[in-house]
Amino acid sequence: EKIIFNGEIVEKSEVNIDIEDRGYQFGDGIYEVIRVYNGHLFTKDEHIQRLYESAEKISIRIPFSKKDLMQRLEELVETNQLDTGIIYLQITRGTYTRQHGFPSEEIIPTYVAYTREMPIPQVSMDNGVKGLLVEDIRWLRCDIKSLNLLGNILAKQQAAEAGCYEAIQHRGEEITEGSSSNVFIVKDNCVITRPATNLILNGITRQVILKLCKENGIEYKEQIFTVNDLKQADEVFISSTTSEVMPIVQINELQINSGTPGKITKKLQNLFKREIEKLSE
Ligand code: PMP
Repeated sequence: EKIIFNGEIVEKSEVNIDIEDRGYQFGDGIYEVIRVYNGHLFTKDEHIQRLYESAEKISIRIPFSKKDLMQRLEELVETNQLDTGIIYLQITRGTYTRQHGFPSEEIIPTYVAYTREMPIPQVSMDNGVKGLLVEDIRWLRCDIKSLNLLGNILAKQQAAEAGCYEAIQHRGEEITEGSSSNVFIVKDNCVITRPATNLILNGITRQVILKLCKENGIEYKEQIFTVNDLKQADEVFISSTTSEVMPIVQINELQINSGTPGKITKKLQNLFKREIEKLSE
């Protein structure tokens, strides 16, 4: 199996990461997950753009161009003969004697990317899944796709232990986002998701969904909504690179839309599928 290490495609077993890599010691780095459908990278420009933005926000200078990065990723997918799956990529600040502050001299970021087969979660998408409300205890820069994921991990684990697919996080009364997804509600035929501020990651899937609403005359707004709004919603769904448009049919003990995926949710699933099909045309 081949991976990318600092820009070169190499055998996975040849790669060694230093124990003083700042990603390993501090989570001092950023990452992206890109969907691959039939060997094609979905919304690749948007993901690469967000990667560079995340890097900039924590003052990591990526030592290659977006174009070079993209070419290598496509080469990796080709080399590994990936059909449907994901690319995971991460960039850390690099390796240096442990100290909290940035290294006092310029160091080279550590860049790793690998592929993994991952099917579309079709059964869950057809039937819907459960969500668990969890208090959002994360820091205040959730707009950065940082390797620091402890808050997200603890939330997801809590959901998993309750037999749920996703944690639906809230800061007090306000719904923020899932542990690895964005949250949408539908009320009176209007799709609502909170504005992308520092409190959430502005999901690429979220942006595709809003675009699809706009292009297809589905009413939508970016507006803060509460735990109560969520409980009284006609439909609820989450979005992410790996889960696409995923219906939430139960939250804690409360059923949403009698425990079935809603009509606008299903419409968006179909529109999203069309968007994926365009990749292969
Ligand atoms: N929020 C968080 C916290 C996430 O981890 C993710 C998935 N990476 C998302 C939202 C959804 O983002 P995207 O649609 O770009 O995968």
